[in-house]
Amino acid sequence: MSLTKLVNSLPIVSVLALAACQGRPEKILLDYKFSQQEVNLIAEAQREWQEAADSSEMDILLSLGFNSDEKPSGFLDQKRGSEAIIYKIESSNPGYATLKEESGSDLVGVSKVFTNIIFVEDKIKELVEKGVYTDYGGAFYRTALHEYGHFLGLDHLASSRSVMANLIYEGVETCIDPETLEYYCSINECGSNRHATCTSKK
Ligand SMILES: [Zn+2]
Repeated sequence: MSLTKLVNSLPIVSVLALAACQGRPEKILLDYKFSQQEVNLIAEAQREWQEAADSSEMDILLSLGFNSDEKPSGFLDQKRGSEAIIYKIESSNPGYATLKEESGSDLVGVSKVFTNIIFVEDKIKELVEKGVYTDYGGAFYRTALHEYGHFLGLDHLASSRSVMANLIYEGVETCIDPETLEYYCSINECGSNRHATCTSKK
């Protein structure tokens, strides 16, 4: 059941209070290190989730505006606030070893619900070098779509087709498949024209 439906009969002030509790940020600040192509891909991933859900509920403003070099491992202790942050780091970043230890594996990206997303640039490039993806844009986009799913509150799914699969399966094109969409709509607002995106993206 969605939160909005749950509180439908309550006065508007309660709805606002609940929305604030959810911690949905008003704005997402992007690391200045992102290229224009990467910014576009992040925006496109955000749009794909919105179109799949037929909802603008998660239409959060993206804004270029901070320098992660000023606080290299700041992503480790960031608290949920009115501004979420999307970082771009290298695996040589002081905080990366800690992230890797926490997760137990090599990461191409990490995300905390409504707080931050971290792209690990050289690890995304490695996906191309290893032939998992044919180009950097494709690898970056898949990572963006997956991490944005975590950002919206989703956990991993077992299906290899799902963009929320824990592993990347060779030769399997992932998407916001029906199962992933159903999962998303069980915790967020979705419109009547919701649809899986499996055939619309490469
Ligand atoms: Zn994940």
